[in-house]
Amino acid sequence: MTRPNHIVRVALKTPVDHLFDYTAPASGPTAAGTRVRVPFGRGNSIGVVVETDAHSSVAPEKLRPVTAVLDEKPLLDETLISLLRWAADYYQHPPGEVFAAALPALLRQGRALDETTDAWRCSEAGPDIDHDALQRRAPRQAAALTLLGAIDRPVTAATLDAELGRGWRPIVRNLEKKGWVRRVEVPIANTLAAIPASETGRKLTRHQQTAVNEIRAANGFAAFLLYGVTGSGKTEVYLQLIDELVGAGGQALVLVPEIGLTPQLVERFRRRLGGTIAVMHSGLNESERLAAWRAAADGSADVVVGTRSAVFVPLARPKLIVVDEEHDTSYKQQEGFRYSARDLAVLRAQRHGIRVVLGSATPSLESLHNVSQDRYRQLELPARPGAVAMPKMRLIDMRREPVDAGFSASLVAAMREHLAAGDQVLLFLNRRGFAPAWFCPECGWISDCRRCDARMTLHRAINRLRCHHCGSERAPEKTCPECDSEPQPVGLGTQRVEETMARLFPEHAIARIDRDSTRRRGTLEQMLGEIHAGQRQILIGTQMLTKGHHFPGVTLVGIVDADQGLFGTDPRSNERLAQLVIQVAGRAGRAEKPGEVLVQTQYPEHPLLNMLATEGYTCFAAAALAEREATGWPPYAALALLRADASDEQLPLRFLAAARELANPPAGVRLLGPAAAPMPRRAGRYRSQLLIQGARKPLHIFLQGWKTKLTGLPDARRIRWSLDIDPVELF
Ligand code: ADP
Ligand code: ZN
Ligand code: ZN
Repeated sequence: MTRPNHIVRVALKTPVDHLFDYTAPASGPTAAGTRVRVPFGRGNSIGVVVETDAHSSVAPEKLRPVTAVLDEKPLLDETLISLLRWAADYYQHPPGEVFAAALPALLRQGRALDETTDAWRCSEAGPDIDHDALQRRAPRQAAALTLLGAIDRPVTAATLDAELGRGWRPIVRNLEKKGWVRRVEVPIANTLAAIPASETGRKLTRHQQTAVNEIRAANGFAAFLLYGVTGSGKTEVYLQLIDELVGAGGQALVLVPEIGLTPQLVERFRRRLGGTIAVMHSGLNESERLAAWRAAADGSADVVVGTRSAVFVPLARPKLIVVDEEHDTSYKQQEGFRYSARDLAVLRAQRHGIRVVLGSATPSLESLHNVSQDRYRQLELPARPGAVAMPKMRLIDMRREPVDAGFSASLVAAMREHLAAGDQVLLFLNRRGFAPAWFCPECGWISDCRRCDARMTLHRAINRLRCHHCGSERAPEKTCPECDSEPQPVGLGTQRVEETMARLFPEHAIARIDRDSTRRRGTLEQMLGEIHAGQRQILIGTQMLTKGHHFPGVTLVGIVDADQGLFGTDPRSNERLAQLVIQVAGRAGRAEKPGEVLVQTQYPEHPLLNMLATEGYTCFAAAALAEREATGWPPYAALALLRADASDEQLPLRFLAAARELANPPAGVRLLGPAAAPMPRRAGRYRSQLLIQGARKPLHIFLQGWKTKLTGLPDARRIRWSLDIDPVELF
């Protein structure tokens, strides 16, 4: 006799395209969203119940029972489960891995939701301790004791790490042995500090108020594109909405591109909204991640601020989702489960029946298209609050100007003027290192990476050549292997810009911000602090410096080399360049003083740069959309990219050719390729790709059938391959 819904269908973290059936424990069916331990292969595994059923297609004698149910209540609600199932289907990714993306590692490993951790506090022996003697004999023990005494709750390892540095464990163990310190178990630290808000909202501008009113008035699901120029007060709009809905008992999820780069944003949220914010990003350790996840799920956090993967965090009473800087490509996961957090945020809001706000000064063409299709409502913030003017952009013709180490006379003169007035200058160059090539002036030989089809970058401070694609490193060749002449560095990297600036402006302090200069923990924060305090006047940086930062003292922005992205092969490279230029330019003149932007280029007549300089992003976007429509590129069609790589040169192409052979695309779906990837060899592996283009629905249906067949191809197991739906990087 069968019991109703006695089959549980479980998502297990394995790379297979289906769920696994088990029989429910005798205690009764297990609800979707709970974790179970199940026999798997020769061992066992932990997974999430996705659904229950009365029947299974697995033969009854092969069905095995669930070993243990790990949760009393489901961890994931129905909305989230349906979103995850949809995502697995849409992105053609194994459901077990998709569900795994929604759970912190500790929960995946089967740890309890109310997991505890070790913590230490002073014992009652306190008054008997002779501190002075201890200070002389064992200063590190004394320091540990002082720290534990100063905090009136048990202190966890994370805090001890931060305060005492590594190596505190033996010291604290000694104190434990003496009976001066006790170890206790505490619930995993809640990341929420109980700080009250210290700032009230500003009086909104008319445009901000209109935006808030419209969003507030929406009932049920509604998607908004908050299109506001840089510094127009988009964040203020989010804060106002969140403040109101939290007051009414709601919860908000705010997605941001990268928290590590913008500690100021989280600080601003805290000051304004108080301590009910859970922060989720890749810099957390596993117990911090679990604590934040739990705070979101049980509702003790009113606001969750997180990067990409936070789109999957359970929310107790969601009322609003915000996607800040929605154009940012970091919302797309580029490996494994290749989802777009921006797109899923909109779907999630739809399923919850709540509002979603996508904000940007340079919206993606996809979002602008969705506005024109009436799927999103556009709200505009066309100006900065107060009398703050938008910066003026001017192109500098590098062919007609005297140039010193990559700097035109006009840019240097403008820098002198702004620096003399006591203002700060920001120089943008999206290339770290000293020089992007090590080159023989006699015969034209260039030092290449041995494992990639790429050039080596010179890092002169350490006198090494480095490949920025695979990380390999070596000493620069002293003589040209072709002609024995002496090679030279050519081209500009941020380190070279720093050197040039130190020569031209010896009286000003420089801050260089790129991945090399901020590798050590805390250095970025420190540099940002010094910039804000006005201690550094010349800021040099890569893309890291452009994301969401506010530098009120910066009045001049110099884009050192605009030509890098001008002739990319990717149909999206124009869009990226336009966004970058506008975002960088937007760092200028954020306070009372007007800003100026100088763009160095060899192609001042290039239509893209001219349009950006004279008419702005909206005109650029309209032109770009018209072009995409004419050529049938996204958002007017959908794309998928089948990528393959192997250490063997022939295999990837052979696999893709066979894949193409297998395909029987319906009308309206086209296969383009296969062809070598734009960088055909990377880290010693040969890479090829096959592009598939078509209307979203037929494309999706086609891919579903095709992918299953691909798995059966003889080469499928000999190479690495992946299917990327809505890829953001094509070539
Ligand atoms: P965005 O998110 O569009 O870059 P922000 O919300 O960060 O803009 O605002 C830019 C600057 O303008 C900030 O310094 C902010 O404090 C200020 N600001 C925003 N709204 C107002 C307002 N209504 N009145 C005065 N200043 C404002
Ligand atoms: Zn040579
Ligand atoms: Zn390399």
